[in-house]
Amino acid sequence: MSSNEEPGSSKDKVENDKSVGAEAPEGAAKQDDGTDDNPAEKDSMDMFSLSEYLARSLGLREKPESRLVEISLAGIAKFLASEECKNVVTMAGAGISTSAGIPDFRSPGTGLYDNLASYNLPHPQAIFDISFFRENPKPFFVLAKALYPGSFKPTPAHYFIKLLSDKGKLLRHFTQNIDTLERVAGLDGDKIVEAHGTFYSNHCQECGLEFSLEWMKEQIFADVIPTCSEEGCLGVVKPDIVFFGETLPKRFAECVGQDFNKCDLLVIMGTSLQVQPFASLVNRVPFSTPRLYINLEKGSSSCNPISALLFGGGFQFDSEDNYRDVFKEATCDAGCQELADLLGWGDELKTLVASEHKRIDAAQAKQPPANTSQKKSKTS
Ligand SMILES: [Zn+2]
Repeated sequence: MSSNEEPGSSKDKVENDKSVGAEAPEGAAKQDDGTDDNPAEKDSMDMFSLSEYLARSLGLREKPESRLVEISLAGIAKFLASEECKNVVTMAGAGISTSAGIPDFRSPGTGLYDNLASYNLPHPQAIFDISFFRENPKPFFVLAKALYPGSFKPTPAHYFIKLLSDKGKLLRHFTQNIDTLERVAGLDGDKIVEAHGTFYSNHCQECGLEFSLEWMKEQIFADVIPTCSEEGCLGVVKPDIVFFGETLPKRFAECVGQDFNKCDLLVIMGTSLQVQPFASLVNRVPFSTPRLYINLEKGSSSCNPISALLFGGGFQFDSEDNYRDVFKEATCDAGCQELADLLGWGDELKTLVASEHKRIDAAQAKQPPANTSQKKSKTS
């Protein structure tokens, strides 16, 4: 595994990312993008990207034949509906959860931000700094209570991904978010890669005992610091989300390695793609693979020679040579609905959202107070 980035340097990057809400702790671990186990593969991939880019820039290589009949959302829809498109990979950031009402703890003036101010954090990201957490876990659990899964409903964009899976098109969904809304939307755990970990499982920081979501919820809502129940162990129990100073989950590395080279269509939404290693993943798909980017702003995601040299490629939305990159300026929900409409899935998506939201409301209405004894077995 690569050494971890210092929280200070991650912080600068994260603060530049306007789209983050619960998309924390973005950039928690540095460059652990699935290639540490095989550095040779990464090097060859980077060299390939670079040489391919240079060759094309210099007019030495013809661009690959476009798989899109037109470079537009309609073109993406036609391709997605075709037999040729079997393996869709989706990547999402905080923007996909915005309409669920998940607050951005970094916005001054919000109750959440004001709540945290009383804890004298050196900077907002300290909340996700593992060394700060070890000293003072309280601010994190205050934030966790406000953001807790179960308090929010998945958005139409989440259900669009579920629909992609139901239609047999989804290879994998990579999320930077820790809100578990993909799981709440019914997407199979096997289809999800939670790049920054998840609230779904929890472990004692001392002895490694695993605790369930329900157990953790009970502790957090009782305003106590979750403490290990193992005899003689008083370790703090922490959700398995990735803090600054921790490495990304192994599953992230494994799935990046497996999935990106067989991706037929890449859909990126609700992330400004400013932070590694997530940002560079867009360059891991084959050169012929169309890429759709749904976001409120194009940001600096487009190809420029410097980033191309450093990271290999980037998007080519505005380039004459663009044969595969489509930018849809929209919220994730609006972009997904429009794509669903073009696919003829529009009504199905609306019905799915309405019925699932109704089901969640009904379940929450009759949910008894959380009960105890949700301890799980020890994990090694
Ligand atoms: Zn313990």
